Amino acid sequence: MAKKLIIQKFGGSSVANVERIQKVAERVVSYNKRGFSLVVVVSALGDTTDELIELAGKITTSPSEREMDMLLSTGEQISVALLAMAIHKLGVEAISFTGAQVGIITDSMHTKARILKINTDKIQDALKKNRVVIVAGFQGVNLNQDITTLGRGGSDLTAVALAKELKADECEIYTDVKGIYTTDPRIEPRAKKITRITYDEMLEMASLGAQVMQARSIEVAKKFNVPIHVRSSFKKDTGTMITKEVKKMEEVVVSAITLNKTETKVTVCNVPDKPGIAAKIFNELADNGISVDMIVQNVSHLRQTDISFTVNKTDAHKTLKIINKIKGRIGITDIIEDSDIARISIVGVGMKSHSGVAGKMFEVLATNKINIEMISTSDISISCIVQKKFAEKAVRALHKKFGLAK
Ligand code: ADP
Ligand code: ASP
Ligand code: MG
Repeated sequence: MAKKLIIQKFGGSSVANVERIQKVAERVVSYNKRGFSLVVVVSALGDTTDELIELAGKITTSPSEREMDMLLSTGEQISVALLAMAIHKLGVEAISFTGAQVGIITDSMHTKARILKINTDKIQDALKKNRVVIVAGFQGVNLNQDITTLGRGGSDLTAVALAKELKADECEIYTDVKGIYTTDPRIEPRAKKITRITYDEMLEMASLGAQVMQARSIEVAKKFNVPIHVRSSFKKDTGTMITKEVKKMEEVVVSAITLNKTETKVTVCNVPDKPGIAAKIFNELADNGISVDMIVQNVSHLRQTDISFTVNKTDAHKTLKIINKIKGRIGITDIIEDSDIARISIVGVGMKSHSGVAGKMFEVLATNKINIEMISTSDISISCIVQKKFAEKAVRALHKKFGLAK
């Protein structure tokens, strides 16, 4: 019988220092001894990626995205080599590879490249030789042989894509919490671990800021039906299963609260209130690879209006540059940037069949004297933009009000 293949992904916190790398090696080896084939995906050590971004920031505020990828990909190259050495020390054969070496071919959208295909020959060969295969997460290579990266948290995507491509029996995501919780346990210690969650709910949570899983990795998992087990790299306990369907006697209305501090609000003032203006602004941003999240257009006065929207902080500089460039052509008088905002969201598939959920959310914020600056809704979530300093308070209050606390 063929050996069972498991993909195991270890996040930055799981390999933050030498002791932790050794612990990861011990876990990998214990699975190897139990007869599993293993492909291990690793992130950069601890906060390495953030530190590299900071370092680049000291050189320039607008680094070339190609060079950013060249820089950031080094983080994962360090961790795979160290983990391979730690596994060797325990007497097991292991070999590390970069994304390019294992044929993770992407498009050329540097810093958020998409995977086009994966050529798994090299991995398959190594597995046949009974080696533990260690793959640098978060990176690939485009058709020009330039190194690319898959967006923040992209090691999750590397793991899920490999699980799909290699038809793995299991895909385990090891991290510093015991699974997916009703909210970030670092903000609310009374948050509860969720046993099973659907792709749709997890995708919504991830898109709205629950950094524990990268949103794009869940999109791929959903598309190809790859079940994911999110669990602790420090404890043996089972974690959270992310799957297609979760049978519950009755849906809870709200299943999680998320917080996202990665966005900046941009307001363009006094744009003419006539057809085609919004298209001009947002097409220009899209053409430059900037994805806009929430958009609010105010009521117009004297045929002019303000439009506010949010973009990722990493795109803020580029966004302002673009808006400034088209400002005169469109007739925008002022551009206001506010980076001290946070997005608070409630998520739950049960919301679809219940009324009054939004009202309850707004009431909680009002009772806590927190002003709502923007609102957006989807089928299974409601988000509010508030000032950043109120973010944690809002999360805890909503978590309590919707009955999620332990
Ligand atoms: P890794 O380095 O393993 O990739 P991340 O830092 O990317 O780990 O993600 C894990 C972190 O996600 C946790 O430490 C936790 O603070 C945060 N987090 C945010 N929301 C949630 C949630 N709903 N459930 C679990 N963890 C969450
Ligand atoms: N090291 C990368 C990041 O910090 C990728 C990852 O951790 O998944 O975003
Ligand atoms: Mg992560």
